[in-house]
Amino acid sequence: MSGLREQLGYLLERSAFYREKLGAAGISSAEEAGGLEEIGRLPLTEKSEIKATSSPENPIGKHLCASRRGIARIYSTSGTTGTPSYIPLTKGDLDNWITGSARSYSASGVSAGERIVSTYNAGPFVAGAALDAFERIGLSHIPVGTGNTERLMLAIELLEPEAAVLTPSYAAYMLEWAAERGKDLRTSSVRRVLVAGEPGGGEPAFRAKLEEGWGATVTEAMGIGDIGASLWGECEQQEGMHLGARGFVHAELIDPESGRALEVSDGASGELVLSHLQHRAAPLLRFRTRDHVELWTSPCACGRTSPRVRCSGRTDDMLIVRGVNVFPSAVREVVNTFAPKVSGHILVRPRDPGVKQEPPLPVAVELAQDVAAEDELAQAIKEKLRSTLVVQASVELVPWGSLQRSEYKSKLVEHQHR
Ligand SMILES: [Zn+2]
Repeated sequence: MSGLREQLGYLLERSAFYREKLGAAGISSAEEAGGLEEIGRLPLTEKSEIKATSSPENPIGKHLCASRRGIARIYSTSGTTGTPSYIPLTKGDLDNWITGSARSYSASGVSAGERIVSTYNAGPFVAGAALDAFERIGLSHIPVGTGNTERLMLAIELLEPEAAVLTPSYAAYMLEWAAERGKDLRTSSVRRVLVAGEPGGGEPAFRAKLEEGWGATVTEAMGIGDIGASLWGECEQQEGMHLGARGFVHAELIDPESGRALEVSDGASGELVLSHLQHRAAPLLRFRTRDHVELWTSPCACGRTSPRVRCSGRTDDMLIVRGVNVFPSAVREVVNTFAPKVSGHILVRPRDPGVKQEPPLPVAVELAQDVAAEDELAQAIKEKLRSTLVVQASVELVPWGSLQRSEYKSKLVEHQHR
């Protein structure tokens, strides 16, 4: 059953933004727009387009469909400049978000009656709705927030949660933090680590490091503020994140350069594009997420039939080195295979402003504690980057502790200022 036709009817009736946009594409009725199979013919939506329609009179934007009274919650995104983007939800939208997030998180294997410690500072941000999902699953939720590792460790030691939810960067940081204090997370009560908020949790070498250090299963979840909190969640098979928001959200892939719709088949990759199917407050159609993903449609051993994705990085972070697309997270993954000689922290330092780079691409690789810089290691990393990612890099080995740690999200690229 496709909710698309009904959603399109709603957009044409209520959304000034989409009436205009679809009208410009020659579509004035849901019938003309067609069904889900033909969604690729409809225009894409860029975040900047929506943002451009917000005004002091309508700070949310022209895609707003619900009345003031009909809105139950307004989240905002952490805009780096100027005013944030506002994300309104009706009561029903919020409920769907929580249902989708609950499906995503329960895929990890956490179950009612268990305790989960969370580290997100939900506040104004969309992650708050993901936290409501824990209650929906029947978990006992211990929110400790970000930036207080002492408090987090204490909650783990004293309250003995079975699960912890944090960013992959913070999960890695915790291992170093604990090691410096002679603590061993492998002996803690935590058996499942749920990571979200940035790509990385699904990279095999990085995941292996987290699983080893925590003595726990690591699964990842992913959402995007404009569309839904935790849309995707990985199951215990660890072969990509299932679409927990199935039925609420439609997923497709496009070629990020041409914008052309790609066939959704097992093993396909491209930029993830999402459409609301049952949204009311400010629904989005064919929204470009800027997330570059691999997608699988083959049946999963867990029995779930929803498609699965793994995020290889943000297209915003992507660099093109002499025609080859390079994601900093992929560079980190290759570097991580040199553990235990490397710490796992890297920083790509593009020399040219913008996306296009002339080789070699400078990469700083941090050594593990008490490991000395050797030319051979730098050479081996450089060689493996070339053979795996087809990128010519220059590798600078830097001492342990010299790259910045994060209790939230890691910065993998240091862009030149223009
Ligand atoms: Zn599965």
